[in-house]
Amino acid sequence: MFESLNEKLDSAFQLIKGERTITELNVAESIKEIRRALVSADVNYKIAKEFTDKVKDQALGTKNVLKAVKPGELMVKIVMDELVELMGGQAAGLNLNGNPAVILISGLQGSGKTTFSGKLALYLKSKKGKKPVLTACDVYRPAAIDQLTVLAEQVGVPIYKNYESKDPVAIATEAILQAKKDGNDVVIIDTAGRTSVDEEMMAEIERIKNAISPQETLFVVDSMTGQDAVTTAQAFHDRIQYDGVVLTKLDGDTRGGAALSVKYTVGKPIKFVSTGEKMDALDIFYPDRMAQRILGMGDIVSFVERAQDQYDELEAKKIEKKIKANTFDFNDFLSQINQIKKMGDIKSLLGMIPGVGKMTKDIDINNDSFKKVEAIIHSMTPMERKNPDALNMSRKTRIAKGCGQNIHEINAFIKQFEEMRKMMHMFSKGQGMGNMMNQMRNTRRF
Ligand code: GDP
Repeated sequence: MFESLNEKLDSAFQLIKGERTITELNVAESIKEIRRALVSADVNYKIAKEFTDKVKDQALGTKNVLKAVKPGELMVKIVMDELVELMGGQAAGLNLNGNPAVILISGLQGSGKTTFSGKLALYLKSKKGKKPVLTACDVYRPAAIDQLTVLAEQVGVPIYKNYESKDPVAIATEAILQAKKDGNDVVIIDTAGRTSVDEEMMAEIERIKNAISPQETLFVVDSMTGQDAVTTAQAFHDRIQYDGVVLTKLDGDTRGGAALSVKYTVGKPIKFVSTGEKMDALDIFYPDRMAQRILGMGDIVSFVERAQDQYDELEAKKIEKKIKANTFDFNDFLSQINQIKKMGDIKSLLGMIPGVGKMTKDIDINNDSFKKVEAIIHSMTPMERKNPDALNMSRKTRIAKGCGQNIHEINAFIKQFEEMRKMMHMFSKGQGMGNMMNQMRNTRRF
């Protein structure tokens, strides 16, 4: 995420890193590069200029005061604070005061509205203890209703839909009445979008909004569209004055412009970011954490939270016992792989760890990386999976045939497995996995 911006900002800081003091000259050089970095990340020039003017004033303001702080570090700190400010300062919550609370989802077709509606339902259900109902108001595409139906089933929430009706206002109004009857406390309304902003679509979403007075109107936008995202955000806001923005596809090769300029341009905060197609790939938008990621400092807090969400305490206790007793086997190994896979896209997870994102930038890591190992284990008999020591030459040859790999690969994997098992056993005598997760839990921020 934002690799190119991160690299360019890094080069800008390099210009001032070796300096002993802040001077007009070295600040000016560094500022020029920061501005270039922002503009090439698709931040509008006016915003980039204003941003760097502020950074410059602050840096020069500290010229005679802070002798103890190195100019390079000072510059990073000032840029970090300004980035947080630019993106809205604080995280903005959802207004769920209503019985039911109604959340209207708007945006262009393909922006990720329907996917986000499903994710939001899951988030409200699993993290906020709500009983949401999804509502399909795209009356033009039956496929869109089907898509929302599949997602509703996947996340385990009800859906209100009407394939016969061509009136989205009526559907939304009925859905709210039905929710009251059924005891659903949040109604999420997914609406139709067009491929570009047009009068008909705007009039429709405006009519729905006026009819149902939602507690929250969210505008969903594809972050890959850069400056266009900001222009569309403005056009929608001029018409329907939404409350917050959802940035999608941040897992892609997005340059960062939309994340950085939407709040400044429209005046409304980003509330959520979406980082994948899976239903749990949704994060609350924290300006400080995002600024850390932009500056390549990783986002260890989000990483730990993601780990905690997926962490299966019982399973971990069982594994911990087996490691201590040195009976960790191939079945346990498979179950650990599944736990990691559950946490989401591995590369994006690694990117959250300070420094690691840069290291793994050009390496192809994905969930398929485990396929080879999984195939080897699946070619073992249940007895072999339980008894790694039983693997003799003839068994290994059979396994190699079974999974279509050569014997060297089987040997290499078993060797690695044995080394890992040894290390984990040693580690378990010092600090167990449970302790590690407990420590992580203590760092939880909300
Ligand atoms: P809608 O037309 O606005 O309802 O958009 P959809 O929800 O149907 O999404 C359009 C496409 O983008 C689908 O293929 C989604 O799977 C995909 N998509 C949505 N959100 C994300 C995301 O955060 N990351 C990625 N990589 N794909 C996404």
